[in-house]
Amino acid sequence: MHFSARTQSIFRGSLIAGAMGAIFVADTLTNYEVAAAVLYAVVVLSAERALKPRALRALGIACIGMTVLSFVLTPRGHYHTGLINMGLSAAAIAMVTWLVLRMQRARAAAQAAQARLERIARAQNLSGLTTSIAHEVNQPLAAIVTSGHAGQRWLAQDPPQIDKARQALQRMLGDAERAGSIIARVRSLTRGEPPQASRFDLNASVREIVALSQGRLEDEDIDLQLHLPADLPAAWADAVQVQQVIGNLLLNALDAMPAAREARREVHIGTAREGDALVFTIRDSGIGLAPEVQAHLFDAFWTTKPQGIGIGLSISRTIVEANGGRIWAEPGAGLGAVFRFSLPMASQEKHS
Ligand code: ADP
Repeated sequence: MHFSARTQSIFRGSLIAGAMGAIFVADTLTNYEVAAAVLYAVVVLSAERALKPRALRALGIACIGMTVLSFVLTPRGHYHTGLINMGLSAAAIAMVTWLVLRMQRARAAAQAAQARLERIARAQNLSGLTTSIAHEVNQPLAAIVTSGHAGQRWLAQDPPQIDKARQALQRMLGDAERAGSIIARVRSLTRGEPPQASRFDLNASVREIVALSQGRLEDEDIDLQLHLPADLPAAWADAVQVQQVIGNLLLNALDAMPAAREARREVHIGTAREGDALVFTIRDSGIGLAPEVQAHLFDAFWTTKPQGIGIGLSISRTIVEANGGRIWAEPGAGLGAVFRFSLPMASQEKHS
């Protein structure tokens, strides 16, 4: 026979309440010498699966309260023995509640570890990864096909529109290069190749990535503000890898935006020089970083998103550190999250 979750929880709740009532009556009506209150510990233990931690704690406290009340109401018996029995019962209930809460926490940790393992297994057969790579590469491929058809049409005209056809070819070459660099980037990441450091303009890299996300920013009505000082010195790192990190952080910021349209939907991106390093900062007005999220942010295969893979930030950290920088996160002041990373500044002598 099948009961709905609601029926089951009502059933369990009444069982718990019934058992507590019976123990209370037995504890109050019997002499002080009969420590019926110890049985409350069994109630707490059996409620472990049904209740959330807060409710369990409340149940433990209620049981201790009822033990004390029974003691006050019990009319007969040896008072001192009753006092000791009450103390023992209360201690037993408190201890069992504490143990049960720890048990619950351990089970939750085990479940989280299992979910993470499942994701690792999923990514190991590469389905998740290939889907996202295919998605990225597909866009330039589709653009190449479109430009190819356009080129054919320009050439088939009488007289052939050579200039237009040349422009279409130019677009095809650009898109083919983009597809190639995406594949190269993925290959170098999975092989863990050392970064190819060169001098580059971090602000220009930011602008390029932002331009790629323009469609999503407009669709989702997100206000993006850039603070890119014109006198920022050049960076010394692998420009393609750094762009991947910026892209990851930007996508995460967009994913974290609140669903409600009327909520504040802002992302600030800034760059600055700090000593001998350049620091990139991205601040969002999203859901923010709860302590349990912050503890795992950079762990591989750790995600809170239903479709997430949980490798964006761990890859970002590998990249930033391989390029001689550091990456870290902070809760935003008020709302949202802040992610920062540093990179070495190119010295005067360094040339690519
Ligand atoms: P994925 O995006 O696939 O989940 P990431 O490694 O990029 O993988 O991110 C891991 C987790 O970190 C996310 O699932 C999310 O819980 C959290 N996170 C990352 N960026 C933000 C952010 N800007 N605001 C809130 N949470 C974030």
